[in-house]
Amino acid sequence: MIKTNFEDYHLSSELLKAIGLLNFECPTEVQKQVIPAVLEQKDIIVKSQTGSGKTAAFAIPICQLVDWEENKPQALVLTPTRELAMQVREDFFNIGRFKRLKVAAIYGGAAFYNQEKELKQKTHIVVGTPGRIIDHLENGTFDMSNIKYLVIDEADEMLDMGFVEQIETIIAALPKEHMTMLLSATMPGGIKTLCSKYMKNPIHVEIEEKDKASDRIMQTRYNVDEIDKMQLLRDITIVENPDSCIIFCNTKQKVDEVFNMLSDLKYACKKIHGGMEQRDRLIVMNKFKQGHFR
Ligand code: AMP
Repeated sequence: MIKTNFEDYHLSSELLKAIGLLNFECPTEVQKQVIPAVLEQKDIIVKSQTGSGKTAAFAIPICQLVDWEENKPQALVLTPTRELAMQVREDFFNIGRFKRLKVAAIYGGAAFYNQEKELKQKTHIVVGTPGRIIDHLENGTFDMSNIKYLVIDEADEMLDMGFVEQIETIIAALPKEHMTMLLSATMPGGIKTLCSKYMKNPIHVEIEEKDKASDRIMQTRYNVDEIDKMQLLRDITIVENPDSCIIFCNTKQKVDEVFNMLSDLKYACKKIHGGMEQRDRLIVMNKFKQGHFR
């Protein structure tokens, strides 16, 4: 039977309290299918987009399953980027806050020593990018001997970024008995191979997006050298002359770069990214909602 309330999953009162505080009234489609399967500790492959509630779909049951008493990490979540690692860490923190779960985010570009210190203390869940996780494994600063739950998030992005070999190195270092969950927006051959190699009778969950944004949006692709990107962006804004527009970038450095260029050119624009203070982000979001950037 498909359940429709978080109460139906027999989650602890600490988790239900945290879920209530997050204003999650009922599970999303992906959560309805994934939460019961993870609670039964079955291997799962999830084809689903960002925005479907996929992070909470694995974070809620993992927070339920981890044993607070245990000092060594019990769950490992691999993400392609540090931004996603930080986001997933925050989601785990919010869901596990009343259970007092300790969640570490381990990624490149941040001080190794601080991560080492964090990993030495009681840690229930580790979220990280493959390269830095391997650095800690090689240094003997990440004890994976008690990992029971492995999550490979945005697997297609990992494939595109050439992380498959590193994922395999990490899997080889894990205890034999562990549950694996893989999430991906698309299922290219490389991901299917990874699944068949490392997962045991996995459950397949596929969430079809209703009224997909991509069906309503005209998309155009330009092949351009990095050096010519900014000029092209300028040209497009002149030719299209939009009343308002949103420009997405894949790193916060790029957001700063594009923002600085547009500001120098006297465009009325604002920037927003995860490296900014929450307060400043909220100010931008509120102005955006009120239509200030037209
Ligand atoms: P994700 O697909 O993990 O990127 O999640 C997209 C957004 O949905 C996040 O902002 C979550 O906080 C939110 N979310 C996740 N589960 C629920 C739920 N059951 N009800 C309402 N919002 C949710």
